This record gives sequence, structure tokens and C-alpha cells, in this order.
Amino acid sequence: MNTALNTQLSQKRVLVADGAAGTMLQQMGLAPGNAPDAWNLTHPDAVKTLHRRYCEAGADIIYTNTFGGTRIRLSREGLADQVRQINLTGAQLARSVATEFGDRLVFGDIGPTGALLAPVGTLPTEVAIDAFAEQAAALTEGGVDALIVETISDLEEARAAIEGIRSVTNLPIAVTLSFDTKGRTMFGVKPEQAVKALLALDVTIIGANCGRTLSETLEAVLKMRAVAPEALLMAKPNAGLPHTENSALVYAVTPEAMADIAVRFVTKAGVRIFGGCCGSTPEHIRAVAAALRSLQR
Ligand SMILES: [Zn+2]
Repeated sequence: MNTALNTQLSQKRVLVADGAAGTMLQQMGLAPGNAPDAWNLTHPDAVKTLHRRYCEAGADIIYTNTFGGTRIRLSREGLADQVRQINLTGAQLARSVATEFGDRLVFGDIGPTGALLAPVGTLPTEVAIDAFAEQAAALTEGGVDALIVETISDLEEARAAIEGIRSVTNLPIAVTLSFDTKGRTMFGVKPEQAVKALLALDVTIIGANCGRTLSETLEAVLKMRAVAPEALLMAKPNAGLPHTENSALVYAVTPEAMADIAVRFVTKAGVRIFGGCCGSTPEHIRAVAAALRSLQR
């Protein structure tokens, strides 16, 4: 496969991905509980500023601000008529910042629908597949380099997303799960099971994001590595678990601590892409990029 992603992966031992979007946009004025994705249309300059800050910090990869961009999720926000525009614009905003910086990659971000698939829940699989296809088509049209399906708990939902994406584009697909429940996902999926299932589906990049603590996420990725030595792995963990200080959510992991563990993700688990999830900031990514750059040489 000859893609921009492959070119970058062949040139570097590890690529740095960006950090949190939701928690950062809240700092920039997004009211908690409001849909961050809507800001692509209402506050495009703020979204570009966030992308720019991550590029300046050293991110090789930025995620589009479209985590909640499926029709299923946007419908609950009253935004069903803006699905295409939110995703298309989200991709275009990230693409234009990536182009400013030259060779940065854009991953089109696809999060869970927030509804449980039948038979556990009531969402028919075909409806989910169509929603993922619709989102992936708009992201592809907006110029992303790959699609990232993230914060997954249910392997069946990952399967639906992959099927939907493949029905509209041949771009590379990455899938990361959140191992936040005693080393498993909320659905009880083990890392070993996830990596095997996703490799069988020919997913290009597999890994873990969000989760509970950094060391638990490292543990999950090490388990993936143990059963899949050939897999291209990535990690985008939280900056730890949040606690409240003066009624504000505070993530305890410092940029330095995140950079230290990023080195272990690369040297021990062989991840090829490392970034941050909830609570991580451009300062975290700057420290991570510096630590990982020193590994390249
Ligand atoms: Zn997260």
C-alpha cells in the first residue's frame, strides 16, 4: 500500500500523534456537555488553533475533531441535518493546518455511536454500518490520510465501523480500544483477543487509547505485542484519571511523566504511533515528541 502514512512510517521509528481535543476545547470555551464536533462549523478558527498548537508541539499526526460525528450520535444533539458538513469541514480544517506545517498526517476520527448494538442493545448493525460509511465518506472527501476508529469497547462495533469505512474508501484503517475495566474493555474484550480479531480483518494499525492509568494501557499493549509480533501497534492513553480540584477536573499525569512512559511504550511494546487522550495537552505532546525524537537517532 503506497500511502502518505506508509511513507512516514518507513522514515521514522515512531510517529507522534496529538493529544486531547474535548478537554482542550472546553478550556477554550466549549460548554461541558455540548458537542465538540459542532465547533467545526461554529468555531472553525478555534479548532484550527488547537490543531496548530499540536503541530507546533511536534505532532506528526492530528485527529479531526469528529469523534462524535456519526449520524446516530449527532442526532441526539439535534444535529442530524449537519452530519456531512460537520465531518467534511472537520477534515478540511485539519487538512489545511497539516498543509501549513508541510508533511503532517490527518487521521479522520470516528468514535463509538454511543448506542449499543443489537442484540445487547437496540441499534441494528446495518444502521450502524451505514452511519460509519456516511461519516467516513465525508472525512475522505475532506482529505484525510487514514481513518481512526477509537475508544471502542465492543468488537462488533469495530467490525461495523470497518465494514462501513471499506464500503466507501480504500484508505488505511486504525482501530484502538479503551481497556478501562480491569485490563479489559467495558464489554470484557481482552487485548489479545482484540488484536487477533482486528488483524484477521486486515486493519492496518491496532492499539489502545483512553483507558484508566498509563501503566494499565501499557500492560494492554504489551499483551497485544506478545501475541502479535508483526502487528503495527499504537497507543494514545489518557493523562491518568481525573480528580476534582475546586470543582474543576484535573488530570494528574505531568508532561514529563507522560514522556517517560511514552519511551517505554516504544522500547518495550514497539508502538509505532504514540499520542495522548483525555487530559493531555500540547505541553504533554511537546514533552513526548522530545523524548521520542531522542530515541530515533
Ligand atoms: Zn480519552
